[in-house]
Amino acid sequence: TPKIAVRGLYKHYGRGARRTLALQHVDLDIAASEFVTLVGASGCGKSTLLRTICGLEEYGQGSIVCNGRDVDGPGADRAMVFQSYSLYPWLTVKDNIRFCRRLKHHAAATSSDVEIASGRADALIGLMGLAHVAHAYPAELSGGMQQRVAIARALMARPDVLLMDEPFGALDAQTREVMHDLIRHVHHLEKTTIVFVTHDVEEAIYLGERVVVMAPRPGRIDSIVDVPFGAK
Ligand code: ADP
Ligand code: ADP
Repeated sequence: TPKIAVRGLYKHYGRGARRTLALQHVDLDIAASEFVTLVGASGCGKSTLLRTICGLEEYGQGSIVCNGRDVDGPGADRAMVFQSYSLYPWLTVKDNIRFCRRLKHHAAATSSDVEIASGRADALIGLMGLAHVAHAYPAELSGGMQQRVAIARALMARPDVLLMDEPFGALDAQTREVMHDLIRHVHHLEKTTIVFVTHDVEEAIYLGERVVVMAPRPGRIDSIVDVPFGAK
């Protein structure tokens, strides 16, 4: 069974004269631990599909099943990374990663929960190459380093599915290359299912084990290309 199964999905924004159809009958299966890239022109609905899978958007017709359960809102099994890093500016790198859940949950946390969280945060700080900035604040870091923190934060609760919306779109070419190698390494080690949205075809082919191409809006899946293993 697929990790994510999208069936006959429709999504529109607004109503009446302002009604915009964003997704039109999307069918998509994503297997566990797969690294899928989703590519298409700007405005075709990639971000909408990702946010809907994450549970951040309601949808009309169709269904989304993740881990055998209907998606009807955000869940700890799915985490999202955006182009903007959205870190808490008043928290250090380590605390941004550690306090990934809403702080109200932390009031009830036991000391062993806090220790486990701290251990996981340290492991992710190591994995993401953040040890030397663990006690710095986001504003002191470059964009690439801030995005490493955002990825570590997303991985903190061990999500099954990591949804990445043009995560490296704001970075320069050299930093982007480093981040490509890093995210492949993360995928290899953590075995997380990754759905990675980009409008950059080269990036989609370089990173994806499977490249899903969306047609111009309203969003439909146009084709799905398996990238031959030897190409990696
Ligand atoms: P992509 O990620 O491929 O650039 P989006 O999913 O952002 O595409 O957008 C798909 C369509 O939905 C576009 O026509 C866009 O203008 C529209 N859209 C996206 N978000 C909203 C919103 N919050 N309200 C109204 N229309 C939206
Ligand atoms: P939490 O710490 O509980 O994960 P966040 O403050 O990180 O909450 O995010 C609150 C909500 O806003 C989440 O559902 C998250 O997915 C969404 N969100 C966070 N950053 C962005 C962004 N840059 N653009 C759109 N939505 C975002």
